[in-house]
Amino acid sequence: MLDKRKFYINGQWVEPLKSNDFEVIDPSTEKVCAIISLGDFGDTNSAVASAKKAFSTWSNTSKNERLSLLKKLYEIYKSNWEKMTEVISMEMGAPMDWASSAQTSSGASHIKDFIKRLEKFEFEKSFEEGSDNHIAYEPIGVCGLITPWNWPINQITLKVIPALATGCTMILKPSEIAPLSGMLFTEMINEAGFPKGVFNLVNGNGEGVGTQISSHPDIDMVSFTGSTRAGKLITKNSADTIKRVCLELGGKGGNIIFADSYPDAVKDGVKNIMSNSGQSCDAPTRMLVEKSIYERAIKEAADQANNIKVDLAEKNGDHIGPVVSKIQFDKIQDLIKSGINEGATLVAGGPDRPTGLNKGYFIRPTIFTDVSNDMRIAKEEIFGPVLSIIPFENEDQAIDIANDTSYGLGNYVQTEDKEKAKRVAKKFRSGGVYINGKSSDPGTPFGGYRQSGNGREGGIWGLEEYLEVKTICGWK
Ligand code: NAD
Repeated sequence: MLDKRKFYINGQWVEPLKSNDFEVIDPSTEKVCAIISLGDFGDTNSAVASAKKAFSTWSNTSKNERLSLLKKLYEIYKSNWEKMTEVISMEMGAPMDWASSAQTSSGASHIKDFIKRLEKFEFEKSFEEGSDNHIAYEPIGVCGLITPWNWPINQITLKVIPALATGCTMILKPSEIAPLSGMLFTEMINEAGFPKGVFNLVNGNGEGVGTQISSHPDIDMVSFTGSTRAGKLITKNSADTIKRVCLELGGKGGNIIFADSYPDAVKDGVKNIMSNSGQSCDAPTRMLVEKSIYERAIKEAADQANNIKVDLAEKNGDHIGPVVSKIQFDKIQDLIKSGINEGATLVAGGPDRPTGLNKGYFIRPTIFTDVSNDMRIAKEEIFGPVLSIIPFENEDQAIDIANDTSYGLGNYVQTEDKEKAKRVAKKFRSGGVYINGKSSDPGTPFGGYRQSGNGREGGIWGLEEYLEVKTICGWK
């Protein structure tokens, strides 16, 4: 069992001011794999004070100084690939191959892409020809970064790297459920040699350190990824200090499968929702299928779900692991039961545990058909390997069903008719649209409409979130 009780404040690993142990559970075994501390107000305050002090010098460093440290960090990250993969696999249950190829690689990809964007980013420019006005982009200040457990290093790098790149200083609070990847990343930041106080890490929960960050008068911006529930609390808590609040929240993506979609569209849709054990905010959790191919789609979807293996995270291979915690396991079980009780038809999986896995938070890949959009399984974010299939008659109805949700993160459309695909893509009310199984390129913006959030991470949009914009008149 790992002892990870210390915090990283002002360039050093320090003991918490008050002891408050928290057990990190390996979701494959239900055993304690590490002990961390939950911070107290004094710890948060000391991290914020060190970030505030460091801001005066870090904010005045040159782009080249910051680039050279980020490039060093990128090399250190790549040389710790195996270690990062192991801790992510242990803390949140991602199977080793998936942890490496999807989770660890996402961190590397973000660091690499932000370096590329920073190289080209102009922090100062003239407003327009003939004007004596000058525009300057300046770091916003001390940032509070709060991240979830489902894509732990993906979310951390999407926040920490642009904050470092733009000259901000910060306090990171990773999810207390999966804090180990964030702590390993902190060791890399230390090794890269960022000046003390620029980056600080304090572990804690939402009621404690999370709330202290969102209400702290010396924090200028909060960037949060997590549930819509916590996003609302953070927004309210931040109001008194008028800090910038950037939110990346939940989703309930629609995947419209037209009769003229490519042959593997249903199969790919099932694979997409089941990967990461269904714990992705932009997963296509509602599959909308044109009536004329409905029966065929059900059979293909059920076959695909039944073919997905569920096994321990420590194993290599093409399987899915457990969900992250007992709380998530119970919530998913409750939603599966609600689907059955509300009259949806179960065609694969269900509430029982997968055969042979009596320990660990394992859930069978589950598919419901004949779902209507007012059932709980179609409305609520399940965050498990559970797909709801809903039939539709025509294009307009499909778009209405897809948009009939309080979320707006990612939607999907499958059709060989490119004009129809583009028409539908523009009508989706979401920050991302994926046509015919295509994925986003590094550096594109990621974020949601409506209750899926209000910011954009990645690329130049991700850099701009951490910047203030100043107009200086009479520059020439
Ligand atoms: P969560 O909201 O419970 O926790 C996320 C983080 O917020 C944790 O660090 C937690 O300690 C902290 N937190 C909780 N309550 C808080 C409060 N009141 N004040 C401050 N901090 C608080 O979410 P989770 O269960 O860790 O993650 C799953 C959620 O994250 C899902 O809803 C998922 O859709 C969402 N998510 C969104 C994106 C995106 O980019 N839109 C990406 C990944 C995950």
